Amino acid sequence: LSTDSDVVYREAASVSKKRLRSSVERFEFQAEVSRLMDIIINSLYSNKDIFLRELISNASDALDKIRFISLTDKEVLGEGDDTKLEIKIKLDKENKILSIRDRGVGMTKEDLIKNLGTIAKSGTSAFMEKMQTGGDLNLIGQFGVGFYSVYLVADYVEVISKHNDDKQYVWESKADGAFAISEDTYNEPLGRGTEIRLHLKEEAAEYLEESKLKDLVQKYSEFINFPIYVWANKE
Ligand code: ADP
Ligand code: MG
Repeated sequence: LSTDSDVVYREAASVSKKRLRSSVERFEFQAEVSRLMDIIINSLYSNKDIFLRELISNASDALDKIRFISLTDKEVLGEGDDTKLEIKIKLDKENKILSIRDRGVGMTKEDLIKNLGTIAKSGTSAFMEKMQTGGDLNLIGQFGVGFYSVYLVADYVEVISKHNDDKQYVWESKADGAFAISEDTYNEPLGRGTEIRLHLKEEAAEYLEESKLKDLVQKYSEFINFPIYVWANKE
């Protein structure tokens, strides 16, 4: 763990404008997680579609959590758009970014650090063992590490999140062994929930096609109890 207290300028992979950040903290992934990410980002696995299933499933879990809490504490839902328990997928062809956002429970800074990289999950090594003996990458969700499947299609990922108990934070990683966390002082305030931005690999441009995405959403939303919308930015 290292803290950059100096003001730093960093350039996002495909967003050319420079952003000012007051404080960025860097963390190393737990070793097994790092190995898993390395395998995924270099994988030649052809069924890359599954990343969307994993993201939709995580968004749905987060929405279930806030809905469950709201049964005994209505206040947690907030007001206006925050009360809409839905999932939105946005296709930004110009910047080659696919983003998925939910108005679920969100993650605090601590949650981001623990859930996305530093806490060892028993499933991580179990899953890698399974794959070495001919298991399918498709099973990733069953081992509790489905999130990392985003690196099948993206080489840079940002997770922006706002939990009721904390400020808005950004988690970001290029799957190079480390991730960074910073308070989000440059994006629009999300309201409650999480937005995951996938900066797609060159060869994954097909996921910016509206018809392809709509078909996939159709396929993966069968058991999802929340509405999912797909938006495409016109070029
Ligand atoms: P699993 O869903 O099986 O727990 P994942 O690798 O898919 O494993 O996700 C890891 C963790 O990251 C989740 O358990 C959850 O705590 C957190 N997480 C991922 N996506 C979201 C999201 N959209 N909203 C809130 N928390 C999330
Ligand atoms: Mg999951």
